[in-house]
Amino acid sequence: MTATTTSPRVCTRCIMDETVSGITFDDQGVCNHCHIHDTLDRLYPLNDEGHQELLSIVEQIKRDGRGRPYDCIVGISGGRDTCYCLYMTKQLGLRPLAVHFDNGWDSEIAKTNLRNVLEKLDVDLHTVVADWEESRELTNCTIRASLPYIDMTDDVGIVSALYRTAAKEKIRWIIHSHSFRSEGINPLKWNYMDGRLVRQIIKRFCRIRLKLFRNVELRHFFWWIFVKRIRTFTMTNYYNDVGPEIDELLKNDFGWQETGGWHFDNEIFGLACYYSRVKFGIDWRICEFAAWVRTGVMTREDALQKMTETPEIESQEYVDYGLKKQGISPEEWQEILAAEPKYFTDYPTYYPVLKLLSPLIRLLGRLQILPAHTYEKFFKT
Ligand SMILES: [Zn+2]
Repeated sequence: MTATTTSPRVCTRCIMDETVSGITFDDQGVCNHCHIHDTLDRLYPLNDEGHQELLSIVEQIKRDGRGRPYDCIVGISGGRDTCYCLYMTKQLGLRPLAVHFDNGWDSEIAKTNLRNVLEKLDVDLHTVVADWEESRELTNCTIRASLPYIDMTDDVGIVSALYRTAAKEKIRWIIHSHSFRSEGINPLKWNYMDGRLVRQIIKRFCRIRLKLFRNVELRHFFWWIFVKRIRTFTMTNYYNDVGPEIDELLKNDFGWQETGGWHFDNEIFGLACYYSRVKFGIDWRICEFAAWVRTGVMTREDALQKMTETPEIESQEYVDYGLKKQGISPEEWQEILAAEPKYFTDYPTYYPVLKLLSPLIRLLGRLQILPAHTYEKFFKT
């Protein structure tokens, strides 16, 4: 008897393969993520019709903001996509307030980029700074819970910063810069989060008393959406944000600098990516490179080749820096990597409730009340 090793099956169109949780293939070998891309591409076409829709939503945002200092909020990290999104809001004549969530891991380059872009675009900034001790402990809670997405509580902090600032400043619109064309959509199992999951993780794994952290629960969303009537607009769906032209524009107009690695505007990404890849076999780049193949800015061959190279942000130096900053000893780290991987499905969450609400979530996404791709992410990946 001979043992045979088989390579994971790869989509015939992009590069998504069987290492991607929840992947399915059609008769032609094309994956469900390619089909999601095509669905969203039909919903948000980059043609005259799509542009007219963009202009009409922008007009509505302006009308809703009349008499107030700002008409929308743009979440900004100092990275390429958020900086370009802020630039686009100004190009369209909007009056944004930039909101930044500082989790203590901003790189110096990201801070400089942020400053330059805000100054040149003449946009006000509101920064929400996380308490470092709490922020570090929350990240360690997710690691102790053996979940793949260690910056989960940072995303809670971002959502909280955006909505709570919008509610306080009476701003009706939050503009998102997630792009299915340039980032793809991560599988649900890799980075699902909700308020109940976060609460459970804190209850089971937190070793300090949290005084400042504010979770985001379903009831908060109901309050913000139905009482405060805050809406979200995934503006990136309506313009072309792929390719090197965007980077060139940012460099020429704003002195924007590369952060030295894939999404390295936030330096915890070195540790986060290493942890996910080594412990879970998750390489986050696959979604983004697959998206670039679909939009034609990278060839399938180049993307497959790139995936064989270890990302530069996962160097020993960056991982050690991350561990030191998190206060994790080398021995603890080995135990963490060896512990059984867990996913959101191993903990109590709101997901079963959200599944029942899926038709409503689809409708709210299409009405620009929830982020546009929420339904696809939750129920198609
Ligand atoms: Zn595919």
